[in-house]
Amino acid sequence: MKITAIETIQVSIPYQHDGPLTGFGGTVWSKLSYLLIRVETEDGLVGWGETFGYNAIAASIAAMETVVKPLALGKDTTDLATLMAGLKKSLHLFGRSGPVQYALSGLDIALWDLAGKRAGKPVAGLLAQEPRSTVPAYKSFMRLQQPDIVSRACERAVRQGYQSIKLHEITVEAVAAARKAIGDTIGLTLDVNCEWSADEAIRMANQLLPYKLKWLEEPVWPPEDMTGLARLRKTVDIPLALGENLANAWSFFPLLDEGVVDYFQPSVTKMGGISEFSLVAQAAARHERKLAPHSPYFGPGLLATLHLAAAFPNIGGIEIFGVDLESPLFGSVGTVGSDGSIAIPLGPGLGCDPDPEVIERYRV
Ligand SMILES: [Mg+2]
Repeated sequence: MKITAIETIQVSIPYQHDGPLTGFGGTVWSKLSYLLIRVETEDGLVGWGETFGYNAIAASIAAMETVVKPLALGKDTTDLATLMAGLKKSLHLFGRSGPVQYALSGLDIALWDLAGKRAGKPVAGLLAQEPRSTVPAYKSFMRLQQPDIVSRACERAVRQGYQSIKLHEITVEAVAAARKAIGDTIGLTLDVNCEWSADEAIRMANQLLPYKLKWLEEPVWPPEDMTGLARLRKTVDIPLALGENLANAWSFFPLLDEGVVDYFQPSVTKMGGISEFSLVAQAAARHERKLAPHSPYFGPGLLATLHLAAAFPNIGGIEIFGVDLESPLFGSVGTVGSDGSIAIPLGPGLGCDPDPEVIERYRV
């Protein structure tokens, strides 16, 4: 079944969150921008994927339109693994990471959606014999900065049913406010997005010990400084998480049999899609390692992560971005229940297509 069309669709949707407008990558986000990938095959069937968005969208579109799409159009999708492996090998010298890999990720997710639709099975059912029907979720706030805002946001998340919360703060005061607001039984993690040197991270990790973090995420700049990270892990007894900046499955493999990283965080829209993520999940299972996927997404990237979590028991919970979109892409699908878990949309493929009216309204 040949690929007849690949379309990139940017949607930018206004949102609200608990603090003042903020963003990542040195910009302030007034809207959240996502890049949907629509793939059609010769039988007229349509699959949906997502390529890493936000500040990377223009680069991701260029990589898809000029590098990946010309090679992928006309290719037979029957053997998805062989098709994706072939594309990755052909394109490897133009980027095993970054926009080319992001574009391949979006294509791969759309092809899994198509494969599920064609087989009449959910993607989770293609990946595992008996997938879970729900997975726990944790609320992942943007950086809120002020301890009183952190405190109020955490209280609201607990009232909504969340059993676990992630902060993107960089001060001990903000973490202390969160722990005080949620008590001892709610899980708390901290993502500092590579804020510190290894020495600073050791100093800060020691100060954070009283707040019983389930993990400290990307504490060290640069994220590739595994020597610094190993020194931190050896010096301070605090679990570490990392992986959203690892480019592909092969970047994870050497780390799985070391004791430095406690939670591995593949990002399905960045590191090669469902095919590549599955390789990491399978290898992690063999090493008895836990995954905590990076998934601050609201499009097919979130659904893909949900299906992967349903299929692989070593995924403990799903990251749900702590913002409220003006209009969600999938209606109530992918929303968190009062027990803090999410139901997997177990229809064929990813289980739900994006709402065409929402796309129309927010398309850029
Ligand atoms: Mg992170």
